[in-house]
Amino acid sequence: MTGAERYPLTFSPFTIKTVTMRNRIVRTSMGSGMTVGGLVTDDVIAWHVARARGGVGLGFSDPGEVHWSSPAFLKNTSDQVVEGMRRLTDAVHAEGMQMFEQLMHGGATNIPQDGSSPWSASAVPDPGLGMVPRPMTRWMIDEVTAGFVDAARRAREGGMDGVEIHAGHGYLFSSFLSRATNYRTDEYGGSFDNRMRFLREVLAAVREGVGPDYVVGVRLSPDMAERQNDGDDVRDFAVELEAAGLVDFVDLSLGSHYGRDLLMGGVHERSGYQLAVTGDIARKLRLPTIVTGRMTSVAQVEAVLADRVADLVGMMRATIADPDLVRKTVEGREDEIRPCIACNQACAGGLNSRGRVTCTVNPAAGREIRFGDDSLRTGQPRRVVVVGGGPAGVEAARSAAVAGHDVVLLEAADELGGQLRLVRRSPYRSEVADLIPYYATALGKVGVDVRLGVTADLDAVRALAPDAVIVATGSRPRRDGFQTLHPWGPPDGFDSVEVFTSWDVLGQASLGHRVLLLDELGHYESLDVAERLTDSGHQVHWVTRFSAIAANLEMRWEMIGGPHARRLYAQDFRFYPRRVVRELQPGQARIVPIEAADRDELIEVDSFVFLSGNVAEAALYEQLRGAGIEARLVGDAVGPRLLEAATFEGQLAVRSLEPGWQRPAGLRFGQTGSAI
Ligand code: SF4
Repeated sequence: MTGAERYPLTFSPFTIKTVTMRNRIVRTSMGSGMTVGGLVTDDVIAWHVARARGGVGLGFSDPGEVHWSSPAFLKNTSDQVVEGMRRLTDAVHAEGMQMFEQLMHGGATNIPQDGSSPWSASAVPDPGLGMVPRPMTRWMIDEVTAGFVDAARRAREGGMDGVEIHAGHGYLFSSFLSRATNYRTDEYGGSFDNRMRFLREVLAAVREGVGPDYVVGVRLSPDMAERQNDGDDVRDFAVELEAAGLVDFVDLSLGSHYGRDLLMGGVHERSGYQLAVTGDIARKLRLPTIVTGRMTSVAQVEAVLADRVADLVGMMRATIADPDLVRKTVEGREDEIRPCIACNQACAGGLNSRGRVTCTVNPAAGREIRFGDDSLRTGQPRRVVVVGGGPAGVEAARSAAVAGHDVVLLEAADELGGQLRLVRRSPYRSEVADLIPYYATALGKVGVDVRLGVTADLDAVRALAPDAVIVATGSRPRRDGFQTLHPWGPPDGFDSVEVFTSWDVLGQASLGHRVLLLDELGHYESLDVAERLTDSGHQVHWVTRFSAIAANLEMRWEMIGGPHARRLYAQDFRFYPRRVVRELQPGQARIVPIEAADRDELIEVDSFVFLSGNVAEAALYEQLRGAGIEARLVGDAVGPRLLEAATFEGQLAVRSLEPGWQRPAGLRFGQTGSAI
C-alpha cells in the first residue's frame, strides 16, 4: 500500500480560495537567515526547492518586512525584493508546492533599522529584548498599515500565492490584542473591540490593496501566560475576523515571548502538544485552518485530519531534518526518514546564535546547494573504513556509501549509536536516540558493511586494506576533577571520594541520596543528568561557574532551559551559580563564589558527579598517520563538541576524499559538551 493510500486525508488536495495544494502538509513560516540584504538568494531558493521536491504541499517563505521600524528577513519594503521572490516562487511552483509569505512586524521585540526604540501598543518592554518601546501614535499606525498594504502587493508581484499577517507570538498585533500589554486609553485600547481595531484595519486595508481574489490569512497564538490572551480570547479574535470576512484562513500556533517554550516545543513535548488549545479554536471556525506543534510523521498529520481538528498541518522542523519526509512516506519508505529530535539547537538555535538555520541531524540543511546527497557522488570509488559507530561515524559511513564508496564500519560495542545510547536513559530526551534505528536502517539500505563488537586497532584496520580511513572514535568523560576556572588541578581532597560522570549516572550507577553536581558544560547533558537524579528521588545540588541552569543552550534560554528548570525546582533541587568547588571530603563539599572567594560554603552531600567535559580519543588516528595510511579525524575524536558537529564532520570527511577538495571556512558549532 502506498503512503497516499494509507493516509488518504493527508494526500487529498485542499483549496483556499483560488489556491489548491496537493496535500495537507504545510511548512509554516520561519526565518532562514539565508537572505542577504533582505533579498532572496540562491541558498534560499535551494532551501525551499528541496522541501518542495520532497513533496510538501504549501510552504511559507521567510517572514517579510513591512516597515523600517521592524526589520525582517525579506525586504517587502522595497520593490527590489520582487525579482528574487519571483525566482523563488517560480522554482517551488515548478516542483508542485504553493507558497505564501508571512508579513510581520515584531513590535516590542524588534529594534528599528535606525537603532531607535521599538514601536508597540504601549511602553511595555518585551521580555526578551527589554527595550522600552514607543507607544504608536496615529501617524505611526497609519504608516505601518500602509506598509502592510505595500508589502502584500509586492508579495503578489513576486508570485506568492497568498500572504499571512502575523498577529501572534507577542509581536506588534499581540501587543495591541493583549490586555496585559495594551495600556492605551484611545480607540485602540481597552475593550475587546478596540484592542482588535488595528488588526482589523490592517486586514481590511490589505484586502483592498490586493483585491478580492488573493489569499489573505492571519496567524494567531494564545500566549498562555498569566493575564495574557488564552485560548478563549484567541478563539474570540478568530471568530470575529471570520464573521467580518477579513481573512481566508487562520493559522494557529501557541505561545509568545511570555511563554517562549510553547513556540517550538522541545523534545519533552509530545507530538501535537499545541492542539489541546489550538484544536479547540480551529474546530470553532468554518474558515480553513492550519495547526502545528511538533508533528513528526504523516501518520500524526492523518490523525489530526481524521479528528477534524484542522484542514492543514504544519511540519516545519520535521522537514528541516528530512526534506524528503513526504515523498518517502508516499513511497512507503517511512523507515528511511531522518527524525527531527526537537533539539532546537541548530535550526531556531542556529538562527539565534549564528544568524542562520542549519540542523543537528541533517548536515545538508541550510547548505542545500553544496551538501545535498546528490552532490556526494564520487567519480573515484574507494574502499573506506570508518572506525566508530557514534553520530560522526554513522553519518560518515552513510555519506561514503551514498557517494559510491565501498564502506566497512567497525564499532567496538554491540550496537551503533555511541553516546546516543546514553540519551535513552534521559527522562525527557530519550527520543534523541531515535537516530540510532534511523542510521541502522540507512546503513543497511546503502550497503555499508557494519561490523559490531570489533575493536579496531592499527592491525585490524590495515587488514581491511583501506584506501582511506575515517576515524570517529569519539571521546570519554574526564575523571580528573577538572574545572575551567581551576585548570591547574582538582579540588582539594578529590582523591578521598568517589566521583561519578554523566556516563555513570545515565548508565545507572548507584549514588547516595544527596548529590553534588558540578557542571562545566551548561548544556543538555547536564540537564539529562540532573533530571535523571531528581526524577529518581535524589536531592541535587547543582554547582556551576555559569549564571543559569544550562546557560550554553543555543536557543533563547527560556525556550529550552525554562521547562527543565521548572521540573527541577519542582523536585529536591538547589542551584549554586557562579561557584567553583574548592574541596571534597566524604560527606561534604566546600564551594566558593567566583566573585567572593572568602565566602566559602559547605554543602552536605553523599555523592559527587563531575561533568568536566570529555577527552578526545584520537590515538588510532595518529597511529594510522604514522603508518602512512590516509585518514580523517571527525566528531568528538577531534575535540568533544555537540551532535551537530559530529554529523556534519562525518559527511565533510567523505567530501574531503574527493581530489581538489578544500575545507570550507567559517564553520562554527557549539563550543562545549560532548556528542550528546
Ligand atoms: Fe529538528 Fe534539531 Fe534539526 Fe531543528 S536542529 S530541525 S529541532 S533536529
